[in-house]
Amino acid sequence: MSGLPALTGSPLLVSVLPVLTAHRGKLLSGHPKRGTPVHAASFIRRREIVLETELLGKADLPHILVHEIFHFVWVRLGNSLRRSYAALVEEEQRNKARGELGESALVSKRLAPDSRDYLCESFCDTAAWLYASATPRLHASLAKRWRLRRGAWFEATFGGLSRGC
Ligand SMILES: [Zn+2]
Repeated sequence: MSGLPALTGSPLLVSVLPVLTAHRGKLLSGHPKRGTPVHAASFIRRREIVLETELLGKADLPHILVHEIFHFVWVRLGNSLRRSYAALVEEEQRNKARGELGESALVSKRLAPDSRDYLCESFCDTAAWLYASATPRLHASLAKRWRLRRGAWFEATFGGLSRGC
């Protein structure tokens, strides 16, 4: 990870469990045939991040961990910064920008591009793309001009050094 802004607030608990699936709003471990496979989940009120055991040692672990941490940042961001980020994404949509900066955002953009869910996922994947060194290239498909705008927004908001685009 590089240039991750200083994070403040109560500690986050990170747990690691095998074979995660999301099933009817719950996170299951060890039931591969029930629910949709996921690699990680965040529980905002419990301040807990659960990572899948299989992720340990994998190249995309930093991306997924930073993504999950920024779910907590999104909640604390406040309305005016959330609106400002939303304006950035709306501008992309007006210009029919395709692609995203991570798999979660990409899936969410396809399913519900106007949703709050997409906004939040795109925020978290942008942070992960900026601060984790290993966003799979396959998932960083947003055009450079939009990547630069997002990077500038994060730098203006959080400081820290964004990586080259
Ligand atoms: Zn997410």
